[in-house]
Amino acid sequence: MTENAIELRGLRKTYAATARSEAKDALKGVDLDIPRGSIFGLLGPNGAGKSTLINILAGLVNKTEGSVKIWGFDQDVNPRQSRAAIGIMPQEPNLDPFFTPGGSLDVQAGLYGVPKSQRRTKEILDLIGLADKEHAYARSLSGGMRRRLLLGKALVHSPQILVLDEPTAGVDIALRNQLWDNVRDLNAQGMTIILTTHYLEEAEEMCDDIAIINHGEVIVRDSTANLLGRLDSKTLVVQPTQSAPVPALPDGITGQTRDDGALAFTYSSAKTSADTILNIIRDAGISIRDISTEQSDLEDVFLELTKS
Ligand code: ADP
Ligand code: MG
Repeated sequence: MTENAIELRGLRKTYAATARSEAKDALKGVDLDIPRGSIFGLLGPNGAGKSTLINILAGLVNKTEGSVKIWGFDQDVNPRQSRAAIGIMPQEPNLDPFFTPGGSLDVQAGLYGVPKSQRRTKEILDLIGLADKEHAYARSLSGGMRRRLLLGKALVHSPQILVLDEPTAGVDIALRNQLWDNVRDLNAQGMTIILTTHYLEEAEEMCDDIAIINHGEVIVRDSTANLLGRLDSKTLVVQPTQSAPVPALPDGITGQTRDDGALAFTYSSAKTSADTILNIIRDAGISIRDISTEQSDLEDVFLELTKS
């Protein structure tokens, strides 16, 4: 038995040309392993291919080539088992306005063949904070409530893997926090979580492992900690009392004058200490009015990797 929740090999998707658009290679041969039990982030700019990948996992989009294994089941060989192992909260809301939250969850459970006696409608409504809306019409729900209902629908068949496609795009902070609390709880109970986002802070905050996808290709796959460690560059910003040029610097430190007259020194925190830089500044006779540091974050890694 494999240890991975998801295994993709040589996954390709070409959307056929239409009268209006040319054929599009949305995925260009993706190999990816997603470990069981993790919170995994699929990160990439708009149009990178994230939803295409997720929709292939969900069985909503047909792959052009390659293999997809979900919880050890090949999608082509064991479609029923591979589908049962995964629940998807889609990017585009697809709620029927005539169903109540209770009804939606019931219909969804029916679609997945969950017997009435094993349905967890009440429990899920509690989890997503819609217990008091069980019988309200979906069209009367706020945007945030609809999102939560989508999460609930993804959970009706108790999947081992939960996939959330841009779950927080355009949602307010309260809902975002609630979603993350839900997700962390589910993960603590053993559920593997995969989320796509183009918000870097979100991936940094939530995910154990990250794959960065760009133009249909996975360009990086690493733990969040390693990714952040790859860029240990720090910037020390000094506001001089009187305007001053950047002093001569040894190898490994670069300096720059900013528009406001501040001197910004960028260095590797593993190789150089802030003290070294402060000594250079003092030796150059520059007196310091103010000082601050800037750390690199995933944004820098991301920009570095996706610039092309
Ligand atoms: P992401 O979710 O990362 O923003 P998508 O997977 O939605 O990216 O899109 C990847 C590329 O495939 C984009 O260029 C997009 O325009 C194209 N694409 C997505 N869905 C379709 C479709 N149904 N038909 C044709 N092209 C599509
Ligand atoms: Mg998308």
